[in-house]
Amino acid sequence: MTTEFENAEKEMSRLVEASLKKYGLKPNVLFARLSDITKAASSGLITWSRKNSVWPSLFGLACCAMELMDFGSARIDAERGSYLLFRATPRQSDVMIVAGWVTKSIIPEIKRMYEQMMKPRYVVAYGECATSGGPWFESYNIIRGIDQVLPVDVYVAGCPPKPENLFAALLKLQKKIGGNIEG
Ligand code: SF4
Repeated sequence: MTTEFENAEKEMSRLVEASLKKYGLKPNVLFARLSDITKAASSGLITWSRKNSVWPSLFGLACCAMELMDFGSARIDAERGSYLLFRATPRQSDVMIVAGWVTKSIIPEIKRMYEQMMKPRYVVAYGECATSGGPWFESYNIIRGIDQVLPVDVYVAGCPPKPENLFAALLKLQKKIGGNIEG
């Protein structure tokens, strides 16, 4: 159970106890069950909301970023899959789509962006370069995939990768957020 859920559960128990005390009642089975139902419902609601409001950050590293722009176009119509507008600040995003090769010099900035993102946060490796270094896999200054630096949730194949494949990858990510795919 995540810290957020633990805090929500404690708060819920505190509220139930306070309302019982107010009416001079003692905790009984009915109230205990009502409290459990409320907790289960709120936990499900939070997961459902997270799954259906994915906020990617506006961020691109190389030519794959052109495909990312296409993903934001009317042709793909990404919002039909609940991928809302790209956010221009990591503080309002929960998904980082790494589009392009990752040089060693940019790693501290990428890590800082990741740390500024909301929790729980997710990473998508978009294209061959972000997945494995792509055509530059033997380069002295490009790493062999963003997963050497950050935990990746979904990989998208292709050089350049199709925006349609990113759409499919985000559907997979949604399933993972909803708990239907093992991490
Ligand atoms: S995967 Fe291909 S299109 Fe994407 S950044 Fe690398 S070289 Fe460019």
